[in-house]
Amino acid sequence: MAQIIDGKALSKEIRLELTEEVAQMKEEQGIVPGLAVVLVGEDPASTVYVRNKEKACGEVGMYSEVYRLPKETSEEDVLLLISKLNEDSKIHGILVQLPVPDHIDESKVLNNIDPKKDVDGFHPVNVGKLFSGEDAFVPCTPLGVMEMLHRNNVEIKGKEAVIIGRSNIVGKPMAALLLQEHATVTICHSRTADLKAHAKNADILVVATGRANMVTGDMVKPGATVIDVGINRVDDVLVGDVNFEEAKEVAGLITPVPGGVGPMTITMLLKNTLKAAKIS
Ligand code: NDP
Repeated sequence: MAQIIDGKALSKEIRLELTEEVAQMKEEQGIVPGLAVVLVGEDPASTVYVRNKEKACGEVGMYSEVYRLPKETSEEDVLLLISKLNEDSKIHGILVQLPVPDHIDESKVLNNIDPKKDVDGFHPVNVGKLFSGEDAFVPCTPLGVMEMLHRNNVEIKGKEAVIIGRSNIVGKPMAALLLQEHATVTICHSRTADLKAHAKNADILVVATGRANMVTGDMVKPGATVIDVGINRVDDVLVGDVNFEEAKEVAGLITPVPGGVGPMTITMLLKNTLKAAKIS
């Protein structure tokens, strides 16, 4: 039976390390890392995410500002706020909570964030840097997955890594990070012809599809490391994209949902904010 990777415990451990670093930065340089979060509209899930981000900043001693804007706010006003935050020396990281309402062009907003303050790693400059192997801000979820692999001593070099899902926020950056660490990487998606054959070949299987329980036990290679990024609500219960009960009988290491990748994502946002403060 697989060993379970406890994302909550790992997250706590990293937040303690960050708390120390933040305190040290404050003492030695008089700098308090600051994050600005912009939320347009009242999407319930986004509202909860933003509140959690604000709370997490406070817990590690970081400064945060949250801009809760009405959903009819114009694109122009959002862009104005971003340019103000780009110039604000108290703010080292800027995050616009996605999705934004339809009348606002998401890529225009993201492209206007100063790449040096782009703690979500969505700006094309950071995407380009990541893919060309330069130091960059990396999207928080795949960054959190890498931390989980490293801190559990999962060997990456020379291993077969298979990612199911090719989104800009999870699948693609995940592939770049694993490739950088010398895995042989395969990216699968909804048009992949024989998903099972690919999945079964994986020493490291990362699943980010948003399809509840789609990876079954017979798709997992014995002893593989299985990372489930998915968050799905089924009959009011949170489940991942991996059928946990089946997969844990076959895998060597596995992340649960909830309590796996989820808690790591916000922790990596804090890590990126500290990095931005260091760069400033
Ligand atoms: P997207 O919807 O943007 O992308 C889903 C990807 O999965 C697409 O590339 C799609 O393929 C692929 N896919 C869908 N169905 C299948 C299938 N049957 N077989 C193979 N591939 C399939 O999702 P995200 O990447 O944004 O998120 C994925 C999941 O991760 C969601 O459940 C989301 O809630 C969760 N998530 C969790 C986070 C966390 O903090 N833990 C953070 C971000 C996301 P195609 O491109 O061909 O359409």
